[in-house]
Amino acid sequence: MEIVGFFFVLTAQIDDLLEQDLLFMRLALDNARVAEALDEVPIGAVVVFEGQVIATGYNRTRLDLDPTAHAEIVALRAAAKVLGNYRLLGTTLYSTVEPCAMCGGALVWGRVSRLVYGAQDERAGAAGSVLQVCANPLLNHRMEVKGGVMAEECRAIMQDFFRRKRAISAEG
Ligand SMILES: [Zn+2]
Repeated sequence: MEIVGFFFVLTAQIDDLLEQDLLFMRLALDNARVAEALDEVPIGAVVVFEGQVIATGYNRTRLDLDPTAHAEIVALRAAAKVLGNYRLLGTTLYSTVEPCAMCGGALVWGRVSRLVYGAQDERAGAAGSVLQVCANPLLNHRMEVKGGVMAEECRAIMQDFFRRKRAISAEG
């Protein structure tokens, strides 16, 4: 009976985490849609601390004329202000797309504990696709990484965006 009970608890915890990951990824996707509405590449991010959303961000590089204004950086900056600390220990960052090398570096410098991302980025991903910045054994900080959460939706919004862009430039 004890063993059965143990497995039940373990399964329940895993389900809770998955549920949480889906919930927060949905919110990251909502942020990606805000970027899309502003004609920015639709990527969104959310920072969670102790089960609560403390910051959100979306890609706004064109809007801000800032090549560093990726969704993850925007969310990290806001989260650090909320926590009053440049180190974000115990936080989880959700991003609709696998972070690039710049954002992966920022996650390491911010001491983020966990990264959850949606779609892989085969061209620029730094959580293992092109580079491994987020969980690199040579660095003094590495985070737990989970990819592929709502990957289809996260990829679809990107593909639609670039398809529309190509159609517009073909027309013009
Ligand atoms: Zn980035």
